[in-house]
Amino acid sequence: MSRLVVVSNRVAPINEGEATAGGLAAGVMDALRHSGGLWFGWSGQTVPDAVVPPDSLAPGLPPAVARSGPVTLYTTDLTQRDYNDYYRGFANGTLWPTLHYQTGLARFERREFEGYRRVNRHFARHLAALVTPGDVIWAHDYHLMGLAAGLRELGLRNRIGLFLHIPFPAPAVLTTIPVHAELMRALCQYDLIGFQTEADRRAFADYLRQEAEGQELPDGTLQAFGRSLRTGVYPIGVDVDALRAEAALADAPHLTALRAGLGGRALVMSVERLDYSKGLRQRFAAYERFLAEQPDWHRRVEYLQIAPPSRSDVEAYQAIRRELEGEAGRINGRFAELDWTPLRYLNRSFPRRQLMPLYAAAQVGLVTPLRDGMNLVAKEYAAAQNPEDPGVLVLSQFAGAARELDAALLVNPHDEAGMAMALKQALGMAVEERRERHAAMLRVMRHNSLERWRDRFVGDLRQLPSLVASTG
Ligand code: UDP
Repeated sequence: MSRLVVVSNRVAPINEGEATAGGLAAGVMDALRHSGGLWFGWSGQTVPDAVVPPDSLAPGLPPAVARSGPVTLYTTDLTQRDYNDYYRGFANGTLWPTLHYQTGLARFERREFEGYRRVNRHFARHLAALVTPGDVIWAHDYHLMGLAAGLRELGLRNRIGLFLHIPFPAPAVLTTIPVHAELMRALCQYDLIGFQTEADRRAFADYLRQEAEGQELPDGTLQAFGRSLRTGVYPIGVDVDALRAEAALADAPHLTALRAGLGGRALVMSVERLDYSKGLRQRFAAYERFLAEQPDWHRRVEYLQIAPPSRSDVEAYQAIRRELEGEAGRINGRFAELDWTPLRYLNRSFPRRQLMPLYAAAQVGLVTPLRDGMNLVAKEYAAAQNPEDPGVLVLSQFAGAARELDAALLVNPHDEAGMAMALKQALGMAVEERRERHAAMLRVMRHNSLERWRDRFVGDLRQLPSLVASTG
């Protein structure tokens, strides 16, 4: 069987279980352990610009940083300029907000886009030295839209796929990026592009049709920019049984601490990186409204928000952090009593295995992003619940997870009143209804497992001919 080569912006520590506050790592590491291969990406280190001449060819092979059974990890450093232009600039200052429909928060600098292309080429040069013609290459996420183009420039004819973990927006939104055509032309050098939902896949096909004279053949093949490529929908899953086992560890010290603090009150819980796409501001406002409208719940409920800071050197993230600190203080100032803090706001991360028992202890999981590719926390919360007495998942209709978890209480994260009502409904829901909703969610999650996600994507990629016929 051909070797699997995984490429992502960051390479995760090989012994998972370390806190990796991002959705990508667990699924990818699992995939590699399964089939063997290598994982290539940025080391997380930056070096001064002077160390690498601006447009130099990559110097030799990057060092292998770790080996674990059949998996080898390779990493490369970025110069400070590359980090600023590629990572902080185009990837997280332009692509992330735009692909999450937050065009008002997007910035654009051509210099940063050039940096994005430069780093994608830099990755491609390193990778070209590591792969053999039979390898299949599986790239991940919005950082690497230009990787296949870089590899093709070097003459590689391998099968190359990209899985986009985040949303793909409607064409009218994508075209706000001034270099959208160059970006999409490069993206079409992939042979297979995977999306989280059919809506994302559709948006991509619509873009090619409307903006690039693309065509969709009856067998689903897309043709644009002189290329033929395949697309597919592969919703990323979770390992339900492994998560449930972690969640059932009832004697964890931090859980004891949480229980002691709660003193029997109902727990509403949310966990995410502190990101403007996660809908924290709207959620705080909905909770405030709930408290204002439901005085009988005072002292009987607590909302625990875990929000580790993320991308703190991007201005929009500093702004949302300042704002939420103010809001959390104000809401507590308004409602707290000597013996009751209605909102606990923690700006720190927890390893996932520590989060799982906390989810199991929460009567409500409140997951209300404004847009999200999937949202793994929603699935983890649902997986953590005791089937006999499960909590209720309140889920944004704009999370990819809502396509599968439609047995959750679905809400519009822009509708504060609707969210406040859903919170009341969730807290008061009878056990029969909770069990029914939970069983339906478990069924879908068991079917769309992490294994299935990996096997379908890699299986489809392996099945492609080694160079999809060029049409122009
Ligand atoms: N996570 C974690 N510790 C934290 C916060 C988050 O381990 O303190 C994990 C969480 O359990 C989930 C992932 O990070 O597996 C977040 O993935 P998700 O798809 O929800 O959002 P993303 O961060 O990728 O936008």
